Amino acid sequence: TQVSTSLAQTKNKTAIYMNQHKPTSERVQDLLGKMTIAEKAGQLNQINGGAFTGPALNDEGQKGKMDAVASGQVGSMLNVIGVDETMAIQKIAVEKSRLGIPLLFGYDVIHGYKTIFPIPLAEACSWDLPQIEKNSAVAASEASAAGIHWAFAPMCDISNDPRWGRVMEGIGEDPWYGALVSAARVKGTQGDLSNDNLLACVKHFAAYGTVESGREYNFTDVSRFQLWNKYLPPYKAAVEAGAVTVMNGFTTFEGEPVSASKYLITDVLKNKWNFGGFLVSDWNSFGEMVTWGAASDTKEAIYKAFKAGSMMDMETRGMVKFIPELIKEGKITENELNYAVGKILEAKFKLGLFDDPYKFCNKERESNEIFTDGNKSEALKAAEGSIVLLKNDNNVLPLNISQKKIALIGELAASHDDMFDFWIGQGDAKDAISLKEGLENKYKSNVQYAPGYSLDVKSSANYINDAVALANNSDAVVVNIGISGKMAGEDRSLANPIIPENQVELLKALKKTGKPIVAVISAGRPLILTDILPYVDAVIYSWILGTETGNAITNILDGTHNPSAKTVMSFPYAVGQIPVYYNHFNTGRPNPTDDAGNWYSRYRDIPRDPLFPFGFGLSYSTFEYSNLKLNKTFINKNEKLIVTVELKNTGNYDGTEISQLYIRDVAASVIRPVKELKGFQKTLLKKGASTTLTFTIGSKELEYYNMSGDSVLEPGKFEVFVGGNSKDVLSSSFELTK
Ligand code: BGC
Repeated sequence: TQVSTSLAQTKNKTAIYMNQHKPTSERVQDLLGKMTIAEKAGQLNQINGGAFTGPALNDEGQKGKMDAVASGQVGSMLNVIGVDETMAIQKIAVEKSRLGIPLLFGYDVIHGYKTIFPIPLAEACSWDLPQIEKNSAVAASEASAAGIHWAFAPMCDISNDPRWGRVMEGIGEDPWYGALVSAARVKGTQGDLSNDNLLACVKHFAAYGTVESGREYNFTDVSRFQLWNKYLPPYKAAVEAGAVTVMNGFTTFEGEPVSASKYLITDVLKNKWNFGGFLVSDWNSFGEMVTWGAASDTKEAIYKAFKAGSMMDMETRGMVKFIPELIKEGKITENELNYAVGKILEAKFKLGLFDDPYKFCNKERESNEIFTDGNKSEALKAAEGSIVLLKNDNNVLPLNISQKKIALIGELAASHDDMFDFWIGQGDAKDAISLKEGLENKYKSNVQYAPGYSLDVKSSANYINDAVALANNSDAVVVNIGISGKMAGEDRSLANPIIPENQVELLKALKKTGKPIVAVISAGRPLILTDILPYVDAVIYSWILGTETGNAITNILDGTHNPSAKTVMSFPYAVGQIPVYYNHFNTGRPNPTDDAGNWYSRYRDIPRDPLFPFGFGLSYSTFEYSNLKLNKTFINKNEKLIVTVELKNTGNYDGTEISQLYIRDVAASVIRPVKELKGFQKTLLKKGASTTLTFTIGSKELEYYNMSGDSVLEPGKFEVFVGGNSKDVLSSSFELTK
């Protein structure tokens, strides 16, 4: 079924833009010179080809879409999957359209295509940048084998709010670490842009993770101070890692929808960061400007978005319709249009689509390179590395399962559909290993199962008695609680990110059995665990782990893999504490322990600190930090500070520790956070062994951004903290001299 290149694009083969020996810039200019304004506007048009039916699509049907492709009115499609489909549609674009410009096929390849990796938030808890890059590369290789060119990933939105369903897709709450993860994801996705890779898309520009009250699509309003220092670094790092595309968000900045923010798109992204790729809107985000009340009709929205620097239009169908009119009216110039279209064409040239529009249409790759054993073993490694151990009283874990009778309880342990979240590409929940299967495959008769609760909150089914009977008849209880994976992702905001009441009731009943109780918690976000901690001896936070869920959790439960992940989002103590995050500011009243009749920044009913802080996670071993040393007490801006600390594995298992270095700028022109992560190391230590860790701090780690987005370095005192999480740290200090 391969279509040879010679068959396609015969009509323009002598044109400069078809000559692969010419430089890309020349090919782009040649092609622009041949295009009509309508064809140019067509390149800005991205339409949905898949299962969803957008508002504008209702009576258009498949034929209408193909006619639009044939007449050069479409530049890209999303949600077209598989070699047969992409090839058939590409054939129309290159053979039927006047200039034979190939289409770009985009898709949400968020954490895997068919082999599903842990959700990005979980994966980030591994602090394993090479593995994170690898995961994106595997996802890209599978999707590219299915005809896809472009992943709408990574999501670089920092968020402090577990009510927001999309935290699952992100990087947690820290800008410095989020920047490293985002860059790794871009590198993994894009590789060298061969046919094993995809274009990456940095989204959602910018600060989408600040939706007010955690409610999806809600208003956002950050100051430039917070924008530059907290929210922009991950996008910036992803752009610097070479991401070819950026996606607008649905939200607002300084009172404007971000799709029309000249400040964000032109001043920051294009001019300050020299982003040389192209932008795509989010789904109908240009159209939504009308609903926001920022434009009186779609035409005005398109005008504003285009003028701000936005380019490709996902599903509003507005660019293709109104750009020619706006040019005729003299509101925008053809030069401005050429710039935007040129960037989209350039990406197509970069991918090599003009030289072989079918290079991603390879049936052999499609059948041999997707959902392979090799990819699944990467997913297993990734999943093991993402599981955070939050509690392990009396070393109840690891469990010697081969010598024990285990009561496995919880609907989540057996329900395939609820294991998978919203963004699973072509992953099939049926192909994933549930916890029940993982345990049974390894320890058949030692494991007995009972559902314990129903995930359907409306169900009156009460399984508690059966679960208690099973627990009484066993040596230990593994209870998989949490919320359905279907509650993770876009439009999955929750006002109460908690463990449902029927599950809490179950835990109370199980506790009375006196058996050791291990809770495995599945969720796409940190849930509030305050009320359940007293009823369980151990807590394994397993997030949503994808294809290898059951195998990974089994390997943690039985100690085959010693957990090492550390959470990259704080776990709130209560809903009313949200947002709670480690890199907060000191306030003028910081000290709630010294209560000499003064009033402090605190709550009167709950603690001020989160239940589990950023960077927290246990191992089956224990690690001790000592002897924190700085090589100098004063450095100037050209010097490096060397920080050393002794790390000892004081437990009974070999284990990996993620050590973190934080700084605090004690006094500056503007307030600075109480702690800022600036270094980490992941160290494998044999039991009883110790080592000296060395961190380096230079001016780059000490800078912050001013309101114009320029980094500034101010002399003065800095504190340094090193430890196994953001709270329990050793500290010292030094001074940056003038
Ligand atoms: C999401 C994007 C996604 C797009 C295409 C939107 O609703 O916000 O993240 O890439 O849909 O599916």
